[in-house]
Amino acid sequence: MEEGKGRRIIMFPLPFTGHFTPMIELAAIFHHRGFSFTIIHTSFNFPDPSRYPHFTFRTITHRNEGEEEDPLLQSKTSSGTDIVVLISLLKQCYAEPFRQSLAAEVGGGGKVCCLVSDALWGRNTAVVAEEIGVRGMVLRTGSATSMCVYEAFPVLKDKGYLPIQETRLDELVTELPPLKVKDIPMIETKELEKLYQILNDMLDGAKLSSGVIWNTFEDLERLSLMDCNNNLQVPLFPIGPFHKHSYYLPPKSRNKDDDKITEWLDKQDPQSVVYVSFGSIAAIEEKEFLEIALGLKNSERPFLWVVRPGMVQGAEWLESLPSGFVENIGHKGKIVKWVNQLEVLAHPAVGAFWTHCGWNSTLESICEGVPMICTPCFADQHLNGRYIADVWRVGMLLERSKIERKEIEKVVTSVMMEKEDGLRERCLTLKGRANVCLSRDGSSSKYLDKLVSHVLSFDS
Ligand code: UDP
Repeated sequence: MEEGKGRRIIMFPLPFTGHFTPMIELAAIFHHRGFSFTIIHTSFNFPDPSRYPHFTFRTITHRNEGEEEDPLLQSKTSSGTDIVVLISLLKQCYAEPFRQSLAAEVGGGGKVCCLVSDALWGRNTAVVAEEIGVRGMVLRTGSATSMCVYEAFPVLKDKGYLPIQETRLDELVTELPPLKVKDIPMIETKELEKLYQILNDMLDGAKLSSGVIWNTFEDLERLSLMDCNNNLQVPLFPIGPFHKHSYYLPPKSRNKDDDKITEWLDKQDPQSVVYVSFGSIAAIEEKEFLEIALGLKNSERPFLWVVRPGMVQGAEWLESLPSGFVENIGHKGKIVKWVNQLEVLAHPAVGAFWTHCGWNSTLESICEGVPMICTPCFADQHLNGRYIADVWRVGMLLERSKIERKEIEKVVTSVMMEKEDGLRERCLTLKGRANVCLSRDGSSSKYLDKLVSHVLSFDS
């Protein structure tokens, strides 16, 4: 299919793994339809372009030569980073460089048919696109349900649910069942007003856009998508899960460590391994880290545990583990800095995924039919965890406040021994429903066709 031949799309991802990856996956999906791509990326967290040979990268910087870099933008996010302050700073610093870069791209010849920017960049990208004369669409990398909840923030404030009070955490939000107060997407920050502004700005940007592309599928979030349709009043395209489109080209990211992990997984029994990863940003305290280590060890299941350097507050990597821990677990457990998660989840040896419930991880697990143990850390992860446990019923919650070795052992055993009635069957059913959506006549494929036509219509 070559409908997009000769047409270029400009993308502007938010520079974090959980946002960049789905943007690249979306580009790969469109690339298959003949479109070419230019990716405008911040100098902050700039990726290695050689991993994505099909796409052209442009870096934008926000400093004049000799100017001091803001410390927050100097290094990768670490355990102490206030994400709200960081996103706010990124939006502020890169607004003008983005405008200049987009103007240069559009003015530079070649048929640019639209801009696709991450929804979190907010209304500025829509305004700039209009000013430059290119249509702007947004990509929402989180769930449709989270967008509905953000839309409901003014009501939640009026009713006193927000700001969240410790004493009300277990109260049901009657306007948004089955969410409890503790599930309302929130980020710990010293700048709460800034967070409200970012979310409001995201909604404004989506409403001004020529359409929202969603990494979700209709059968998973039908009601929330209907709500979003009413709220946003722009065309919506739930074409996910992106990484499962049959012609999606995964970036070439395999290395020797991936091979070693696969070799280790190959030696384990089917559905015997607990895979543990809290994504690319979440951090935990040393106390929690130790409880996880001992809980995993005591549960006596093989485990594959991703501990990102800097993920444990105050530690470089594993040094706070009891001495001899790694040696004692021997081949029973493997602790690594990063894995190719899509490969790991697809491996037959993996029996459960202990996750922080980031939206990408949630979708990736659903697609492989792997039951989840849910320990949400921040933002929409709380909401995702509630949906995983109580709506789709494909996992169990293990809240952060309950991270303690005995409780871990209990939950791990419960999921692995299938004590939770019908859990694995429900996972397989949901996986099947995702596959149906992606099939030729499925909703995601149909929305994708509509999306391509929509983008092509911008020409006329
Ligand atoms: N991921 C990975 N290897 C790891 C940990 C994470 O490839 O060791 C990927 C994972 O497959 C997912 C992304 O990083 O696509 C994390 O996104 P998610 O939305 O789950 O969480 P975030 O990192 O944004 O909190």
